[in-house]
Amino acid sequence: MTTYSITLIPGDGIGPEVTQATRRVLEATAVKFHWEVASVGSKAEEMFGTPLPDYVLDLIKKNKVALKGPVTTPVGSGFRSVNVALRQNLGLYASLRPCKTYPGIASPYKDIDLVIIRENLEDLYCGIEFEVRAAETLRLIELVKDLKGKEVREDSGISLKVISREGSARILRFAFEYARQNRRKKVTAVHKANILKFSDGLFLATAKQIAKDYPKVEFEDMIVDNLVMQLVKKPQQYDVLVAPNLYGDIISDLCAGLVGGLGVAPGVHLGDEVAIFEAVHGSAPKYAGQNKVNPMAMMLSGVMMLRHLGEKQSATNLEKAIIEVIREGKNLTYDLKPGAPKDQIATTSQVADAVIEKLKK
Ligand code: NAD
Repeated sequence: MTTYSITLIPGDGIGPEVTQATRRVLEATAVKFHWEVASVGSKAEEMFGTPLPDYVLDLIKKNKVALKGPVTTPVGSGFRSVNVALRQNLGLYASLRPCKTYPGIASPYKDIDLVIIRENLEDLYCGIEFEVRAAETLRLIELVKDLKGKEVREDSGISLKVISREGSARILRFAFEYARQNRRKKVTAVHKANILKFSDGLFLATAKQIAKDYPKVEFEDMIVDNLVMQLVKKPQQYDVLVAPNLYGDIISDLCAGLVGGLGVAPGVHLGDEVAIFEAVHGSAPKYAGQNKVNPMAMMLSGVMMLRHLGEKQSATNLEKAIIEVIREGKNLTYDLKPGAPKDQIATTSQVADAVIEKLKK
């Protein structure tokens, strides 16, 4: 039997709790794992002087698959996002986030089954930023005046939105291939090309071109503001949504909200070589160490990891066990039981216990 070597990044905040719960349920499947644990973020900065040590990147490249908890990004100052740096360094250009309603979850919506495919490397996340009043910023402002005849206020901070034809083609082809291979019917490309003619406009033009190679998959495009309104009104009409980085990020959290919240929203970041499985949610620092938050988003990311490894039966068994725990409603964390008395709310580790019990049956 194969033993899979997986890089395990517990992360910080609630990360260690949700990854521990997920590790336990994965170990309760028929699959064997060898975990290689790695630190990133502020802990790594203390130990190694950098929030993303090279050894972590090497370990991920060696194992090709990682399971990762969330990592806090200091706001405004401090190190740049480790999450963004991981994606950039490892060429993880696609983020895949399924959103499904499971019976038993309190949500005004039923029968949602959509997938968000987010471009991960370009757009406003490309990391090219100009700080207010820095010399380079003032030079850029001058250049804009020269080239475009436009006045930019001198007290401006500037972040570049960069969208390339190649980057767009890669994520769009990924989305259509995903639709084809998973028998999805429709791909919706999300953009704001009416205003951002040269960045989102290029994304849209590329989408229209690539759609021609997939005549069996229905294609439509939607302006992002209209899309979010339609998603709230009738999310069931969407199947695969493909979007540039920032819209993809925001839509992911919106869709998580439609199906019960961040506690049940899993995901993966994919490149040609490497896959990092992680929940959509962040490190929720206010709940850290309380054994309180929902580990299911991380566990469902674990289900995706099992499928990726080719362990389809174990993936199905684990997903069914999670679905059964949700349907039963006895062992759910606070987020899935709004208004329930404290003694009826499960802890993170109790959810793991309940899922493991189901796996044994
Ligand atoms: P967050 O996702 O951490 O938390 C938002 C809210 O969602 C929480 O207050 C909580 O109410 C709820 N929530 C999140 N996860 C939950 C869970 N498993 N169970 C139940 N409820 C849950 O978002 P934030 O507060 O904006 O970000 C906190 C930190 O996480 C920031 O530093 C941010 O940069 C980072 N972050 C990291 C990642 C990542 O590592 N991939 C992703 C998003 C945010």
